[in-house]
Amino acid sequence: MSRPDSVIVNGLVRQALVSAEEVMGANGLHTVLRTCGLERYVDSMPPNDMNSAINTSDYAKLNQAIEGFYGRAGKGMLRRIGKASFQYGIREQAALLGLAGAAIKLLPEKQRIKFILNGMVNALKKSNSAVDAWVDESGANIAYIERTCAICWGRTSQTPLCHLYIGSISEAVLWATGGEHDIIETHCLAKGDEYCRFEVGAAKA
Ligand SMILES: [Zn+2]
Repeated sequence: MSRPDSVIVNGLVRQALVSAEEVMGANGLHTVLRTCGLERYVDSMPPNDMNSAINTSDYAKLNQAIEGFYGRAGKGMLRRIGKASFQYGIREQAALLGLAGAAIKLLPEKQRIKFILNGMVNALKKSNSAVDAWVDESGANIAYIERTCAICWGRTSQTPLCHLYIGSISEAVLWATGGEHDIIETHCLAKGDEYCRFEVGAAKA
C-alpha cells in the first residue's frame, strides 16, 4: 500500500513557503522549518523555477509540522496557507496555471469552476509528470481528485487531513466564481481511500 516517494519543484515549494510566512510570520515559519528538517529554507526561499526541490515526503512533513505547531488551530491555519498559496499562484505563476489572459466571466458557474480546477490539475502535472489528478464531473457536484496527493504522503488518519488543499481549492473557486463555496474532502489517502477527493459544495450565503 505504500506510495512511491516523488519530488516537488522549487516553484511549488516557494509558493507554499511564501504563503506560510505570510500567514504564520517569519518566526513561526522558521521554527516549523527546523522541526521538519527543512532548515535550509530559513531565510532562503527556493527560486521560482521547475527544478526539483524536495521529496513529496518532506512536503507532507512540512504540513504535519505546521499542524503540530498550532495544535487545534492547525487545520484553520493550513486552510489559510492554502488560500494564500493560490493567491500567490495567480499573482506570480499565472502562466503556469494557464490563466494568463483567461476570459471566463461569461461562462456559467459550473464551467468556471471546471476551468480553474483543470488549470490546477494541469499546472501540477506540468511540474511533475507522475502527478495523477483530475476533475470529476460524474456526481451532482464537481470534484477535484488526486491519487498522488503530497500533503498526506505516508500519513494515516481517521479523518481527512489535506487542509492546505482545501484552502487552495476554495480560493480557486472563489477566484473563478466570486463566491465562497464549501469544499468537502470526502476521501483521503491517509484514511485508506484510493485518492484524495475534494467536492465543491454549495455557495456560502
Ligand atoms: Zn491528501
